[in-house]
Amino acid sequence: MEKFYYSVSIPVPVRKDFTYFSEEKIQAGSRVKVSFNKRKVVGLVCKQTSKPDFKTTEIEELLDEKPAFDSLALKTLNWVSDFYIHSRGEVFSNFLPPKLRKDFYYESPETKFNEYKVNDDDKRFPLTSHQQRAFKFLSKLDSFDPCVFHGVTSSGKTEVYMRLVEEALKKGGSCLLLIPEISLTPQLEQRFKKRFGENIGTYHSKKTSKERFETWKKSKSGELRVLIGTRSSLFVPLQKLSLIIIDEEHDASFKQREGLKFSAKDVAIKMAQDRKIPIILASATPSLKMLHLVDKGKYKFISIPKRVNDKNPPKFSILNSHFLDRKSGIDTNLLPLIDKTISKDKKVLIFINRRGYSPVFKCTDCNWTAMCNSCNSRLVYHKESARLRCHRCDTSFGVPHSCPECESTKLTSEGVGTQKIESFLNEEFPSVPMVRLDLDSTRKKGSLERLLSEISDTKKAFLIGTQMIAKGHDFSDVELGIVIDADLGLVSHEVNAVEKLSQLLIQVTGRVGRSGKSKIIVQSNLLDNEYLNILSSGDYLEFSKHLLKEYEAANLPPFSSVAILRASSPNKTSNVNFLNKARKYLEKETNCECIGPLPDIISKVRGNFRHSLLLKAKTLPTLHKNAKNLVEGYIEKQKRLKVRWSVDFNPIDYQ
Ligand code: ADP
Ligand code: ZN
Ligand code: ZN
Repeated sequence: MEKFYYSVSIPVPVRKDFTYFSEEKIQAGSRVKVSFNKRKVVGLVCKQTSKPDFKTTEIEELLDEKPAFDSLALKTLNWVSDFYIHSRGEVFSNFLPPKLRKDFYYESPETKFNEYKVNDDDKRFPLTSHQQRAFKFLSKLDSFDPCVFHGVTSSGKTEVYMRLVEEALKKGGSCLLLIPEISLTPQLEQRFKKRFGENIGTYHSKKTSKERFETWKKSKSGELRVLIGTRSSLFVPLQKLSLIIIDEEHDASFKQREGLKFSAKDVAIKMAQDRKIPIILASATPSLKMLHLVDKGKYKFISIPKRVNDKNPPKFSILNSHFLDRKSGIDTNLLPLIDKTISKDKKVLIFINRRGYSPVFKCTDCNWTAMCNSCNSRLVYHKESARLRCHRCDTSFGVPHSCPECESTKLTSEGVGTQKIESFLNEEFPSVPMVRLDLDSTRKKGSLERLLSEISDTKKAFLIGTQMIAKGHDFSDVELGIVIDADLGLVSHEVNAVEKLSQLLIQVTGRVGRSGKSKIIVQSNLLDNEYLNILSSGDYLEFSKHLLKEYEAANLPPFSSVAILRASSPNKTSNVNFLNKARKYLEKETNCECIGPLPDIISKVRGNFRHSLLLKAKTLPTLHKNAKNLVEGYIEKQKRLKVRWSVDFNPIDYQ
């Protein structure tokens, strides 16, 4: 029998493929079962190779009737592995549905490309002239042609997406609508289903592995032609993919922070390029990076400057709030206004970017503060579950009755989180319905949908939430918005913290006041940026021009590129030694600036110390070349590394 040889990528953290043989002809992109270090694993054939000069083992089983990834998907996936300097096998595995990571034979479903019918009984508005203009412009995009689609909140962007999807379906294509977070799917899914019927698919990590596999199969057969999904849905095999829309393009959740640290936005753009299809990057608050690309003439731009109902989003005003005036975080001067809004049967939205009851739990006698056993991180008091919880590693502890240091019983909690605001308002306004949206209240499957429908079923109510509440939702009757501790954003360790905060404030104005009478109040002591007046009037684009100038002067991204080399181990010295050597190696390169090594802000997580080296270069290609050089020329040459390491390109935060 003739033998064929194949490079097989295996989900282990080494950047190399392994050679196996088979007597069968196997197509690239197919899953196979192979023996690896005495284990049976699922690998992916990435190409046929010539006979090697070492002994190889036989592929045990071909697991796909048709390749799991077609050649275009493989092309993009290979780029992902190369760009993020990450094991190809792990990249493949990251984008397979959980079921296909296991070894079972998958017989491809029969092709049944659906003729898409649009539901004509779905009430359609005539597009506003601005929508019409945007629709015309966007439907003319052809081939790879990235376009930033700006539209103030409630300007009718979603309606434009639906028309574009309809066009694409008519022409026989399929569409991927990427959204940052699961919390946005229920409302969007409903709107799309109403228009396009049941053949809309959704794909995200809260779906069971069975549901995800079903969606995968239906996409592969062509039955499903519109997919709404989060970053894990990027490689769901839609047939004849002809349009990608990224909703809320500015959102940080497109970045995966653990394992393969990829940006779904960057991968989607590459995917559109490989497939020669248009990609639309939509947002009410486009990221500076995208606006910069528009300025340079690389991306197109279209904008809807007005809301559908012609009313502008509410302005916001800054309330210089002193600690003493605050009752459980809310400035007492605001209580009459809250009362007035509620008595008009309207809703009040309260945004605070911190979950739990309070972020500090301490002893008033000796100042002992509750810390996590295995992280250098304060424990957050959760009154609801009566636990102290570490938000880094998610371990929870019982609440002590006396101080572990001095045995005093004078223990207290300090600072404000969503639960504290909830219980304060409950006491002040006992009869008013209250909905809290944060990670804790939406953990259970279906709870988010339940909470969202509770919101739409009530008139007067308090909506309290973390950033989950600021994102894209369409709430009715919200007439007052309060942002608590806006300063948290400014003192955070995010890259481009001011950009992030300005986007957040504008997004909050988008949740409030479709009626035109509403108010937003931002409690803050630090906000005194001279351009804030421009922002508070709602003109994000004008504000962003000023911010871009500042970032240019300071040589910050997008005017430079940064990456972080992280080291983690139980031993501080190992981290520092590793990073120092890396720095020395890099300094032989002329065009890469290094800062560090420095301990991370949370310097210990799950028992491991964490240190970083910041790499900075004028352009991304230069930075990438240097980082790759470092990995290949130094790190991967080390015999026994004492640390775990990772490179994070365009990191979200510096910690
Ligand atoms: P965005 O996505 O920009 O926030 P949406 O598409 O959600 O805006 O539109 C906001 C609201 O306006 C929705 O309730 C939508 O049904 C409604 N809407 C959209 N387009 C029109 C239109 N042309 N005429 C009337 N109402 C519209
Ligand atoms: Zn004490
Ligand atoms: Zn912890």
